[in-house]
Amino acid sequence: MSDPIVHDIVIVGAGLAGSWAAMVAAREGITNIGVLSKVHPLRSHSGAAQGGIAAALNNVRPVEGTGPRGPLEQIPADGEPVDSPDLHMFDTIKGSDWLGDQDKIHVLVNDAVDILYEYEHMGCVFSRTADGRINQRRFGGHSAPRANFAADWTGHVLLHTIHEQCLKHGVNFYSEWYVLELIVEDGITRGVVAMDILTGELHTINAKAVMFATGGYGRAWKITSNATANTGDGVAVAYNAGVPLMDMEFVQFHPTGIYKHGILMSEACRGEGGYLRNGNGERFMENYAPDKMELAPRDLVSRSEQTEIDQGRGAGDDKQGIYLDLTHLGREKILQRLPQVREIAMNFLGVDIIDEPAKIQPTAHYSMGGIPTDVNGQVIRNAEGEPFTGFFAAGECACVSVHGANRLGTNSLLEASVFGRRTGYEMARFIEGGAKLHPITNPDPTKKQRERIERVMDKHNDSQAGRIAPIAEALKWNMTDNCGIFRNEEKLEKGLARIHELKGDFTKARVMDQSRRFNTDVLMALETENLLTFSEVVVAGALARTESRGAHSRTDHQKRDDTDWLKHTLAHKSENGEPVLSYKDVCIDWEKYPPQERKY
Ligand SMILES: Cc1cc2nc3c(=O)[nH]c(=O)nc-3n(C[C@H](O)[C@H](O)[C@H](O)COP(=O)(O)OP(=O)(O)OC[C@H]3O[C@@H](n4cnc5c(N)ncnc54)[C@H](O)[C@@H]3O)c2cc1C
Repeated sequence: MSDPIVHDIVIVGAGLAGSWAAMVAAREGITNIGVLSKVHPLRSHSGAAQGGIAAALNNVRPVEGTGPRGPLEQIPADGEPVDSPDLHMFDTIKGSDWLGDQDKIHVLVNDAVDILYEYEHMGCVFSRTADGRINQRRFGGHSAPRANFAADWTGHVLLHTIHEQCLKHGVNFYSEWYVLELIVEDGITRGVVAMDILTGELHTINAKAVMFATGGYGRAWKITSNATANTGDGVAVAYNAGVPLMDMEFVQFHPTGIYKHGILMSEACRGEGGYLRNGNGERFMENYAPDKMELAPRDLVSRSEQTEIDQGRGAGDDKQGIYLDLTHLGREKILQRLPQVREIAMNFLGVDIIDEPAKIQPTAHYSMGGIPTDVNGQVIRNAEGEPFTGFFAAGECACVSVHGANRLGTNSLLEASVFGRRTGYEMARFIEGGAKLHPITNPDPTKKQRERIERVMDKHNDSQAGRIAPIAEALKWNMTDNCGIFRNEEKLEKGLARIHELKGDFTKARVMDQSRRFNTDVLMALETENLLTFSEVVVAGALARTESRGAHSRTDHQKRDDTDWLKHTLAHKSENGEPVLSYKDVCIDWEKYPPQERKY
């Protein structure tokens, strides 16, 4: 066994949340920071984000008299502002279907403008207005144009900007290292067990503070916009270590994934004025959200699309698609604002969106739930908000909760940046305030994970042993069919029973590849076990929540029920491995933002 690696701070995840935290802590004077990433840091999923990052900058406004989808123009120096953090706050609360914590949303929207200017001052290459300010476009559920963008490469340019700053400030990156376990002894977080994927060796990393910024978990569904790496390792590892998971039943389906592939056609397509049409060529959103049309929030648009498909008005030979029509935008606008989307449609559909509509369908996209934290990234262990000492989290794997039951587009890059930055400051304060390096007393900390890997690699297994890939495939179809856009008791019961069966199958499954170096079979087995672990929590939470709110839509309980369900779910792993659910109040300003019916 190799000697433990020691850091003041170890961060798992090199997307926007992890990189912001690392950069800030380093800037604050913490010199010994290690950031682990299972993929090269610049391949983190933040880099795939296309459409924009929200902040009420007030750089553009709708041209007067042209209606809600008309052209935008620069706001002159003496012009009235059209946007404010307060308006951003209300839109986010409404988008969350009143499940977002309003004290947390307040922090998100009030840090937003400042974080945009910090990006700008670091040299981030935003698209610009004619007078040189950061350009803005419309996005679903936002009542002002506040999506700040860099063509449709927004995540890419933000991530490159912060990564460069991390390198400048001396952050150590462990590229292609995979974290398997959070080490907690006597209630105190002491480090992680990680695999160097290249050599297959397991290492113990001892640290004063550990942060998870491991991103989303969309890979539990068959049709998803998420990268193959988004297997929810962080939430599963934290849950296995005794951390509760919050609001896991709220999973966002994005309306415009490429048909059958799920790969995203950014919401910027609709932000720039794109239409959705059913198989009869009708702009069906006028029947579901007449004011907002295609720019209604994602939960509503996805449900509307699925309803059109389910009622036989889908597009294409099999009537299972919807058309995203951009042809009226014109060549110049598409080349300037949506070049990546055009390329994706050409590569995966063989369609040039300048001339033809693209066939799309709803796709699993974003995880509203995750590891519960306060606004400074401190992980909490229960409904009373007691801290999980030495453990921090931010970004998509965390649940602060600013998105509640449904996230508005562009609020996630913002969340990862704002709460990544705040967590960086908090960890620096924690270290400088005298945090100790608690030694790992377990004489063989990698043993459990070594045994786990040896079991899936055991070549003396009986001939009945199954393979891992079919289990992962079955899980993904199960989640798509039984825990998708529309849910009900029967489907969810079936989904949960199937997960239990698949967990049983997993204990008998083995991998073929016996090599140690870069063994992607072993990696896939570990990821599949994580997918099974958190999927059980998602389905159990969805089964228990007998109401419809935001992205959680029950056909057998169609109304939002504020009397019984205006509360967050917490899931703890029990002794027998199954989730035990409890609930936590939502923070609401009853004077200013009391719950109302959500209409668009
Ligand atoms: C296609 C697409 C487009 C999007 N567009 C937008 C948009 O326009 N605007 C917006 O606001 N939001 C958008 N989102 C959402 C947004 O991009 C993400 O929510 C956000 O970038 C997440 O950032 P993060 O730092 O939390 O995680 P990520 O950027 O996903 O990073 C996760 C990191 O964790 C690492 N990791 C995970 N597990 C392990 C492990 N076991 N061991 C070691 N490392 C691990 C990964 O390697 C990676 O470095 C989009 C999402 C998708 C899928």
